[in-house]
Amino acid sequence: MNARIQQDVEELSLLLDAAKAMSEQHLQQLSDHPTTTQVGQIEWPGLPDNGLGGKHTLDLFRKLFYPHIVASSGPRYWGFVTGGTTPASIMGDWLTTVFDQNSQLTTGKGDASALLELQTVQLLLDLFGLPDAFMGAFVTGATMANFSGLAVARQWAGKQLGMDIARDGLRASIPVFSAQPHSSSLKALSMLGMGSANVQVVPTLPDREAMDIEALKKMLPADVRHPFILLASAGTVNSVDFDNLQQLAELKKSYTCWIHVDAAFGGFAAVSQKYRHLVDGWQYADSITIDFHKWLNVPYDSALILTRKEHAVLQMESFQNSAAPYLGNPWEQFSYLNYVPENSRRFRALPVWFGLMAYGKTGYKDIVEQSVQMAVYLAERLVETGYFQLLAPVRLNTVCFEPVPDTPASITISDFLEELNKEGVVFMTASVYKDQACIRAALVNFRTNKAAVDQAMDAIEKALKKITQ
Ligand SMILES: *Cc1c(COP(=O)(O)O)cnc(C)c1O
Repeated sequence: MNARIQQDVEELSLLLDAAKAMSEQHLQQLSDHPTTTQVGQIEWPGLPDNGLGGKHTLDLFRKLFYPHIVASSGPRYWGFVTGGTTPASIMGDWLTTVFDQNSQLTTGKGDASALLELQTVQLLLDLFGLPDAFMGAFVTGATMANFSGLAVARQWAGKQLGMDIARDGLRASIPVFSAQPHSSSLKALSMLGMGSANVQVVPTLPDREAMDIEALKKMLPADVRHPFILLASAGTVNSVDFDNLQQLAELKKSYTCWIHVDAAFGGFAAVSQKYRHLVDGWQYADSITIDFHKWLNVPYDSALILTRKEHAVLQMESFQNSAAPYLGNPWEQFSYLNYVPENSRRFRALPVWFGLMAYGKTGYKDIVEQSVQMAVYLAERLVETGYFQLLAPVRLNTVCFEPVPDTPASITISDFLEELNKEGVVFMTASVYKDQACIRAALVNFRTNKAAVDQAMDAIEKALKKITQ
């Protein structure tokens, strides 16, 4: 064994203690840690001939890179949709690294990590109140979950047309209808060869981001046997609007369609009785995307693709490794290997299992309800400043707002965000809502409480003062 590695193996306990000490120090002061860094370039040490060993490598990292690590899992990081990390999920994630399983097999021929994954999927179906009709698999994020769901949808559409697209390639145009598809679904359609520009954009209801289903009906194929895909939103990123999933499901009675629901973070409405109605009808979907590194508060990266069990064959056709006999026959024994895009797979179920067992249904209900409550409170405080107005009502956990136009001290979004974000107390991002520039804050972190919102408002008022004086 290489001498450096040998030394590290002997000092393993010291090294893990050092990593633990740094973890603890970071997490203890997370609320005060900056949410941004201004750095553009970081000094680069180059590859050493003889390694530094773990201890000195940690010291070097602490000096060069740590000052630029941002508090993305802290209580005031509201850009994009960025979740935190609960203590139990960190335990699970740490151990995932230590155990280093390759989660694939379930039938006694390999390790047991996939058994825990199957069990975790059951726990999640329970959490979300979804029926046992779904089968689930962990992937890296909602982008890959959308990719996976749409890949199976593509295979399904091919079958209706007498084709095996996974085997023979895409030789038909498969209509995809959507009102507000997330950019990652468009990316998925590009990757699948279906073409991001082939989405037929359905009009939205007035003042909403939800699909106008009457308008959709006018766009559907005249031949009801012709397959198409409905790409539905359960939580749009700007105004957290939901397509009426119940009404979409009704269409399955008269048309030949696949319903894919992107519920990346909006799916968490289901864990609270107050908001559960928003996802009514998602139980009839063919495939559903849910992200865990957002509202489930587990570390990156983690998401789930749910598909109906009746589509298992289509899913295996889409992702099988039949050309590699050493990987086993996909039709003889179940393996995640033949069920998702990745072959080798991190044991992503473990941090989720830890979180679910540690905090239970009530834990996640509390996180969701608190996030929504804080979004409502933040919206009130923003409007009270006199500088901002809402572009959409706060439907769940996101505040979508803009500067009040035509006031004497009118401010621009870019000036405001630049001034605010550089202070490093709160982080928000710009977006576009119905062709209108806006700012949005998405609250999905269990640490975001009233004190955090108040502290953010102090920073917001300070930034306003600076740019208006
Ligand atoms: C975040 C998000 C995605 C993409 O998810 P990643 O985890 O970043 O891959 C897709 N759809 C919606 C609605 C999202 O909010």
